[in-house]
Amino acid sequence: ATPTSIMVGTGRAAELGVLFRKGEALQLLKDARVVAVDKTGTLTRGKPELTDLIVAEGFRRGEVLARIAAVEDKSEHPIARAIVAAAEAENLDLGTLERFEAVTGYGVRATVDGVRVEIGADRFMARLGLDVGLFAGDAKRLAEEGKTPLYAALDGRLAAIVAVADPLKETTPAAIRALHELGLKVAMITGDNRRTGEAIARQLGIDEVVAEVLPEGKVEAVERLKAAHGRLAYVGDGINDAPALAAADVGVAIGSGTDVAIEAADVVLMSGDLGGVPKAIALSKATIGNIR
Ligand code: ADP
Ligand code: MG
Repeated sequence: ATPTSIMVGTGRAAELGVLFRKGEALQLLKDARVVAVDKTGTLTRGKPELTDLIVAEGFRRGEVLARIAAVEDKSEHPIARAIVAAAEAENLDLGTLERFEAVTGYGVRATVDGVRVEIGADRFMARLGLDVGLFAGDAKRLAEEGKTPLYAALDGRLAAIVAVADPLKETTPAAIRALHELGLKVAMITGDNRRTGEAIARQLGIDEVVAEVLPEGKVEAVERLKAAHGRLAYVGDGINDAPALAAADVGVAIGSGTDVAIEAADVVLMSGDLGGVPKAIALSKATIGNIR
């Protein structure tokens, strides 16, 4: 492509809210075969809400919610905000926190008023040696509704299953359709529960799901998808996405995302609308396609 065609293309993209940080990304997008997307904050709004809290026998709902909210109050994860907001809505007293620890990709823990509290994914409970089989039926149902099931433990005993739901962005379904119309494969990469990821993917017609990925596993997933399908664009918003954005042929960050993601990206979607990706690919085909 000529420098002029790239200037014209990136200029037109900017008018559509798609900012090219690197000019060569416009040339690369033309031949993209697969778009891999992070789930939370990219497909979804990234603002989950607590939808369910089912306690095990011998535990009180209010107590469990207050304890886990006290711990989540120190966490930066979107899930944390959902749990704290639910406790605030019920005017619960959160108590005094000690020894907070975030176990990335698993959950969080602390001691609250002398009670040891853990909240996180099933694999977090497994690490603690806790069997979550008691809630197997609930977990399956909640995940099939596209909700994320989490578990709470108090003093080393399984106390509750908690679910949070993160609604899709309004623009997501049309963006996925547009990518398919351009002949691309769409894959989702998420740290979330497999069943939850698959339920959301089914709803959107997403072709492939890589779920329960630990932060360091996203790059490996990107490499695998590249080998299977060819040139790959990765779309993400979080700190966790930065290595995957760098590993992709074209990294696309959500404009409202973290600075770390934006720094690692070649393209930034200023409006946060995933629809910018098919638009940029179409533009790449139109401006670069016939010039080379
Ligand atoms: P993602 O951003 O895709 O959710 P993460 O690696 O941040 O990926 O988290 C993976 C999983 O670990 C979450 O889906 C959740 O089950 C659990 N988790 C992480 N942080 C927290 C937290 N603060 N509270 C509860 N669960 C958490
Ligand atoms: Mg995200």
